Amino acid sequence: MTTIDIPPGSLYGTANLPYGVFSTPGTKPRVGVRVGDSVVDLAVALGDDVFARPSLNPFMAQGHGRWVEVRRQITALVTGDVPAAAVHPVAEVTMHLPFEVADYVDFYASEHHASNLGRLFRPDAEPLLPNWKHLPVGYHGRAGTVVVSGTEIVRPCGQRKAPAESVPTFGESRRLDIEAELGFVVGTGSPLGSAVPGEEFAKRVFGAVLVNDWSARDIQAWEYVPLGPFLGKSFATSVSPWVVPLLALHDARVRTPVQDPPPLPYLIEREPWGLDIDLAVSWNGHEVSRPPYREMYWSPAQMLAHLTVNGASTRTGDLFASGTISGPDKSQRGAFIELTWGGKEPIDVGGEQRTFLADGDEVVITGTAPGAGGERIGFGEVRGRILPATEAKR
Ligand code: MN
Repeated sequence: MTTIDIPPGSLYGTANLPYGVFSTPGTKPRVGVRVGDSVVDLAVALGDDVFARPSLNPFMAQGHGRWVEVRRQITALVTGDVPAAAVHPVAEVTMHLPFEVADYVDFYASEHHASNLGRLFRPDAEPLLPNWKHLPVGYHGRAGTVVVSGTEIVRPCGQRKAPAESVPTFGESRRLDIEAELGFVVGTGSPLGSAVPGEEFAKRVFGAVLVNDWSARDIQAWEYVPLGPFLGKSFATSVSPWVVPLLALHDARVRTPVQDPPPLPYLIEREPWGLDIDLAVSWNGHEVSRPPYREMYWSPAQMLAHLTVNGASTRTGDLFASGTISGPDKSQRGAFIELTWGGKEPIDVGGEQRTFLADGDEVVITGTAPGAGGERIGFGEVRGRILPATEAKR
């Protein structure tokens, strides 16, 4: 047996206990929980084969009561003796995609981001379209191209047409961008023909991850009218490897901003809450933005209520992301198209003037939140590096 050392100020104390899927050299991926600088192999530590699987889905499908019970067991375990064979230094493990992504939806819930994009894409019109304050706008993304942090991103090719050009051309994206977001993971689904009211959110949603919704702005700008984003987004979406349980985020709850006009009844919550999560975006090692999740207009429960109000079913492993997180200040914008105002106002990145992503660039998004007992808890990071477009893709 051994004990787990949690360094003072660790973002992975007992208030957090995020779940992931890891492997060590020569072993199969299985479920672990991060504690301090260690990963605890739950199949070994708890003797339950549901954790010997290469994804969190079977455990998530067991439901909220079981999530509460296992969190209690893990808390008792890691504050006492743990089988030595269950403990691995985090530096010695490989992290994998933590869950099988069933369906993937991306919302657009930041008023600051939607207003900035409106000004950039439609300079002669109202920044917000008429529907924006009546429903959480979203689109269906591509679940099969959700990848774990560290996966390299090949620059996409496609059709693009600059406003000054009369016809489109085919080629590599010249305006490759990021979107710093938070993603929610559905633990237990809901049947076809039923809606999920806001009060059921905490029973059905297992946890949250950081998301980078890579976006090719030139492909997107040409293709998105009238049916929304397609190939400008679907080439890759990166997520952080640690799923922070909703059970760890109780102390991070904050009221959402006042919603005016009031939404329709199915979107009204008694006490709508968002999350006080501070994100940070680093570009080639230089911090360029600090997006605040607490500024988001639509609450996570409203997103799920809207996603299901037409009777659409949900499944274990569904991922719905918040949309780009941007605050009111320029230093809080979660996408480079906003930070550089459509590429017209380059920003300083370690002494270089930059607009969109160059081959070889690396972006890292991190996040922290208040946890129980005054501890801060960490989401870890979502990292990705851009590789040149390949001939094979054309
Ligand atoms: Mn997005």
